[in-house]
Amino acid sequence: MSLSFIPLGVGDAFSALSYSSCLAVEAEGQVLLVDCPHPIRKMMREASLSSGEPLDVDRVSAVALTHLHADHASGLEGLGYFSFFVLRRKLELLAHPAVAERLWAGHLAAGMECLIEKRGEPPSPKHFEDYFEHLPLSTESAVRHGPFLVEARMTYHHVPTTALRIHAGGRCLGYSADTAFDEGLIAWLGKADLVIHETNHGVHTPYEKLAALPEDTRARMRLIHYPDEFDTRASVIEPLVQGRRYTV
Ligand SMILES: [Zn+2]
Repeated sequence: MSLSFIPLGVGDAFSALSYSSCLAVEAEGQVLLVDCPHPIRKMMREASLSSGEPLDVDRVSAVALTHLHADHASGLEGLGYFSFFVLRRKLELLAHPAVAERLWAGHLAAGMECLIEKRGEPPSPKHFEDYFEHLPLSTESAVRHGPFLVEARMTYHHVPTTALRIHAGGRCLGYSADTAFDEGLIAWLGKADLVIHETNHGVHTPYEKLAALPEDTRARMRLIHYPDEFDTRASVIEPLVQGRRYTV
């Protein structure tokens, strides 16, 4: 029994060096993707080669989605189609109702609502439920998916976004998702054994705020979603390395 993860990407939406932030969390042989940017299969393949851990979409039992910005959600169409055509099963999607509310009409429908299933025939209408199975996350209670017990908390961001606490194998991994600096969120995440926190410019969390946290908080924290120019070697909080496997 253990809980581990591989960051498939550690960068922000503008990165020329890294893939967008995304985690492959593993327990009991099942993989839970936290967010799903494009090109998700290539990201998994490269992380598999660098970590030595076999990792492809056939091992993904669900995607936990924090929010709808493209650097977190742009791989859902491709992965949804891959599940539909190749794996012949629906893709399970864990997301808070506020996060998922515009997922179909405002994001996926443009590329997925019409499908030619037989050559020569007109496209047939498709709906969210044809490709995906939605398991709503809650800020009130934990939700189980396989070995994972997932808790959610809203963050301060442009669009509805949730931080996550993922329990499995007697351990807990916290993920801030995209957020401004929020002491309440850091306290909530602090109940986890290891916390992955974003840092970036603008309405994101300034590194300086995290660097000023107490030492024991920083020791259990890892950084993700950092800009290309971030000085990883000077950081007093360990930045995650893309494609490396970590045990919680
Ligand atoms: Zn965002």
